[in-house]
Amino acid sequence: MDTNKKPHQCPECGLHYEDKAIAKQCEAFCKEHNACSLDITRYSVENKQKPHQV
Ligand SMILES: [Zn+2]
Repeated sequence: MDTNKKPHQCPECGLHYEDKAIAKQCEAFCKEHNACSLDITRYSVENKQKPHQV
């Protein structure tokens, strides 16, 4: 069982996600489209750390 609190990294774009399922979605999307989905990257740790939100 992998239940530690370390964020999961998408190996394609390098963004980190607290939710492993979302990280997997990102990876799948990145591989298929060669780009990130904004609907997915909005959940990334990097995005959450931004001081302002869209
Ligand atoms: Zn990605």
